[in-house]
Amino acid sequence: MSKSDKTKNMSKETKAVHAGTNPSKNAVNTPVYLSSTFYLDEKGYQDWANMDPDMMVYTRLNNPSQEAAASKIAALEGAEKGLVFSSGLAAIHATITALMKKGDKMVTTADIYGGTYAMFKEDFTELGIESIFVDLTDLENAKRVFEEEEIKPKIIYLEPISNPTLKIFDIEGAAKMAHEYGALLIVDNTFATPMSLNPIKLGADIVIHSVTKYLNGHSDMVGGAVVGSNELMNEVWKKLVHFGGCLDPHACYLLERGMRTLHVRMERTTENALKIAKWLEAHPKISKVYYPGLESHPQYELSKKMLKMGGGMISFVVGNSDEEGMNMVRKCKIPLEATSLGGVESLIEMPGNTSHMNIPEEERKEIGIVPGFVRLSVGIENVDDLIADFSNALDSN
Ligand code: PLP
Repeated sequence: MSKSDKTKNMSKETKAVHAGTNPSKNAVNTPVYLSSTFYLDEKGYQDWANMDPDMMVYTRLNNPSQEAAASKIAALEGAEKGLVFSSGLAAIHATITALMKKGDKMVTTADIYGGTYAMFKEDFTELGIESIFVDLTDLENAKRVFEEEEIKPKIIYLEPISNPTLKIFDIEGAAKMAHEYGALLIVDNTFATPMSLNPIKLGADIVIHSVTKYLNGHSDMVGGAVVGSNELMNEVWKKLVHFGGCLDPHACYLLERGMRTLHVRMERTTENALKIAKWLEAHPKISKVYYPGLESHPQYELSKKMLKMGGGMISFVVGNSDEEGMNMVRKCKIPLEATSLGGVESLIEMPGNTSHMNIPEEERKEIGIVPGFVRLSVGIENVDDLIADFSNALDSN
């Protein structure tokens, strides 16, 4: 019996520590399988893209280190199977190319990670796969697209907590709508993490992660993951075989180790973030705060119903100019001015000139990335130290 099976009916905290972890020869941890290739027997001599994805033949296809990390993510998300990739974008690329072909269309929203937006808008358009961007906070907008005879989208693609405006999207409603029209719902759960939300339990078909963020949690590797049914994962796996994009076994080790403390990190980051969000909201130099756990969040009721915790991401607007925002960012001593998120250390940035610079300025403003917009990834430092640091940074602004 594997560790994943043993934890099948256990809580997510126990799964985070034990599921997928695959010790051997009395070791407590999964060894790092530094082997690019494996002994072949007659089963290995076949068309790779059509063979059993669980077989160990070559590390681009599968490796015990990849399998351990992927099984832990699948266990945490309540999915049948998981695959790991060399980055979040590699995971998204493999998923979309597995499920869509030239002439197919998907419904999505501009409220997604800037790199995903650019891939959908530029690269997939070039390949003849069209993304229709609508405001999905109101699912009637998606319904209108599905009702148009000739469009017939195959996918709805969402981030439940959007990057960086932290809007909340109704996963249960989106899944029902997608299925009513014979489409699939794909959810990028990077911001919420499985400790706060399990989209598959609400009807989503596939869940994607940039594991670079909370799942690893230590800003020391880049990776992605896709989880879902065996049937869908077999299709995605074929793209891993054909396009490459596999996760290096060293990185799998860092990912697996990071995930073992995911629940503890998520609890602390949420506790810190709520205190900081409330403090920022009361500060006279801050014109707006976006945080799913604040009662002032326009979708607070949905957030309370759908998310177990508010998470560690806060966005806010300093005054009304990028200059004021940048001054504050540069005066902080604890959070590092860096892109990315989800690590034990706090990170701060202005998405308009980093993660979301690919989105045209007018469109950025429309979704709420206005002048002075700052994104903060709250770490697990002492919250009073963080608040004192923000207070000094704003006072000297
Ligand atoms: N999805 C979300 C929500 C992200 O924030 C990011 C990166 O910031 C990605 C996907 C892309 O992940 P990666 O940088 O690991 O390719």
